Amino acid sequence: MALERRRLKISGVVQGVGFRPFLFNLARKYSVDGWVRNDYAGVVLEIQGDKCALDDFVATVWSGHPVPAVIDNIVSEYLPTEPCMGFEIKMSREGVVSGSPIPDQGICPDCIAEIFDPRDRRYNYPLNSCILCGPRFTIMGSLPYDRNRTTMEVFPLCPACSREYNDPGNRRFHGQTIACPQCGPKFWFTRPDGTPSGKDPGDSARNILKKGGILAIKGIGGYHLACHAMDEAAVSRLRKLKGRDNRPFAVMFKDIATVRSYCHLSLEEEAVLKSPARPILLLKQYGEAFPASVNPGLTELGAFLPYTGIQFQLFEDDLTALVMTSGNRSGEPLTVDDEIALSNLGPMTEGFLKHDRKILWRCDDSVLRWQRGRCIGIRRSRGYVPAPLHLKRELLPLLACGAQQKNTFALTKAEQVYLSQHQGDLDELTAFNSYQESVEHWIKLLRCKPEFVIHDLHPDYQSTIYARGLGLPSVGVQHHLAHLAGVMALDGITDPIIGVIFDGSGFGVDGAVWGGEFFYGEGTSWKRFAHLAYYPLPGGEAAIHQPWRMCASYLSRYAPDLLEQWLYSHDLGYQWKLLQSAIDSKMNAPKTSSAGRFFDAAAALAGAIKTVSYEGEAAIWLEHQADKTAEGVYPFLIEPHPEGHIIDPAVTLAALGSEIGKMPTGVISMRFHRTMAEMIAAAVQIGFDLTGIRQVALSGGVFQNRLLLDLTWERLEKQGFKVYVPEIVPINDGGIALGQAWLGSMMLERGITDVFGGTR
Ligand code: ZN
Ligand code: ZN
Ligand code: FE
Repeated sequence: MALERRRLKISGVVQGVGFRPFLFNLARKYSVDGWVRNDYAGVVLEIQGDKCALDDFVATVWSGHPVPAVIDNIVSEYLPTEPCMGFEIKMSREGVVSGSPIPDQGICPDCIAEIFDPRDRRYNYPLNSCILCGPRFTIMGSLPYDRNRTTMEVFPLCPACSREYNDPGNRRFHGQTIACPQCGPKFWFTRPDGTPSGKDPGDSARNILKKGGILAIKGIGGYHLACHAMDEAAVSRLRKLKGRDNRPFAVMFKDIATVRSYCHLSLEEEAVLKSPARPILLLKQYGEAFPASVNPGLTELGAFLPYTGIQFQLFEDDLTALVMTSGNRSGEPLTVDDEIALSNLGPMTEGFLKHDRKILWRCDDSVLRWQRGRCIGIRRSRGYVPAPLHLKRELLPLLACGAQQKNTFALTKAEQVYLSQHQGDLDELTAFNSYQESVEHWIKLLRCKPEFVIHDLHPDYQSTIYARGLGLPSVGVQHHLAHLAGVMALDGITDPIIGVIFDGSGFGVDGAVWGGEFFYGEGTSWKRFAHLAYYPLPGGEAAIHQPWRMCASYLSRYAPDLLEQWLYSHDLGYQWKLLQSAIDSKMNAPKTSSAGRFFDAAAALAGAIKTVSYEGEAAIWLEHQADKTAEGVYPFLIEPHPEGHIIDPAVTLAALGSEIGKMPTGVISMRFHRTMAEMIAAAVQIGFDLTGIRQVALSGGVFQNRLLLDLTWERLEKQGFKVYVPEIVPINDGGIALGQAWLGSMMLERGITDVFGGTR
């Protein structure tokens, strides 16, 4: 027998996911002696035993580790043997901080089973958790991850829980969030004014939901508001009380079988829904199963599964689908504070289900969509943050401040990027305050020290103003290049690439509002080789809510007769006259190449002329009208120009307009989407002819349009291009901070401030 001693350093997501207990049990199995301890990079252990046993031990670490853990690397080093007996779990060294804090984990099947088992001591105790499941990031004050640095600190373990905590064979061995009805956080039902009601909390909650009431429920990352998804009156009342526009609500289903009975569900989608992150997944629903108020006008539904014990208790055989929306008034950040919940949410509800485990950090539900073998990010938050993204190169120590809408920010540590949870729209003061607190918390949590700061070029974004106020060396990254750089960062692309960024709006380097952009280049050298033609944006931002304005803007130059007729039939002639004179005197009519506004215009012409309640609503309506079987395309125009090709969308719009009233909207919509894919493919082909580049990144909020992304992706692949889209990281402005970090770091390293090299 050859005795050996090795030191292993395991890095990755290995803290708070049952890793040390796993190693302990493994050591027993293979008769290995030594110790393990959480360390700054992950876990460190020393193992001593027979050479073969040590080899088997290491192999099993790789192959058999707990599911939520992610091993990045194991560094092994040989040491002289020393006398030792048994295997010990040592306490974390104070002052030593792990590189990888852990995301919140949805409750595991074992813990659920106990809640519903009358013989178990945790029967009916929904705050049950173990080493594999429960809240993590949202209750974590600092690292390393030990109970006394979480909000579980105030719940000392009872003797029974303590025995489990110290029993290496137990599922709760060194589980920092474990609890039971004796020692753990309490949960109860209260009336809207906060007075507790003595009855069974689950029964009281279900009764309210069945009667069409609204309930506030404290979850992992904040409060939810819930109501019966099949009750039109309840859903529309919730919408009204929340001040929510027409944006769709997500629906939480009792179980996967129920999801399958309402929505198309692939095996991959099922796996994402059931994953410990438990995100909301956008699924195609069968017919119109839900009341119109759930997802007005849409054929897609945001579905998710329960991920806390309390949520599991809400469902019954005749209560299988609940609208679950973030507990806040529209525009404000998610409520995490119990007092604020009582005063703000109380008046909207018939009752509260809550507990006294404090939520330290808000974290919204994540939103994804499975498409063509990729998991497209819409919102990356609970269940994914704060796990770092591992890039293929080291970045400078920096803070990337993100954009204005759907903000996230990013911090870097060598080749790791920590993308924050969803911060919301920073023009809302409460969101901006929360953003600043969040930045400070993350810096403390990660114990990182940003030496540089990256921001958008838009001078009025709150994130830009904040960045410039920090007094650190800074650089601005153009909004759409940041969208593109995010994709490159994720896929480690360093060679030349073509980027197609179809977006709502972003600040262009020429001061115009960009948003329909084609780039090629690499590193810090880029060329904007094509873009949608500039048209005036009548009334600026106001045009976002009145899609007809942009439609008139396009048609006035290209098809004045059609415009006049159209305005007349919708009684908009006078309003347009006023806007027209403002445009003529260059008042509040910035020029824009926004693809988002072009989709608005097409939707307006096709029938969505009324005022919309949120950005992109008209375009989403048009997408959901599409008759996939319809054939045909509209013409489009791409013309060479000294500053890059110009695509004039008005030509397409005029052709679309000529079919109004003659063709069904479904056909018009399909033709329009196919035209956009053809137009993108043609422009990309021009980029290829100029450069020979065969890889294309697609990003920007407009690509949240499933049909457009599908058609474009397919078309480009057919043309022989390799297509990249951002995975899990949002394709909208929620992904900007990652791209800022990637490109901004390169610009700072090379001392470059103008990546267009004056060639635009
Ligand atoms: Zn569990
Ligand atoms: Zn206990
Ligand atoms: Fe954007």
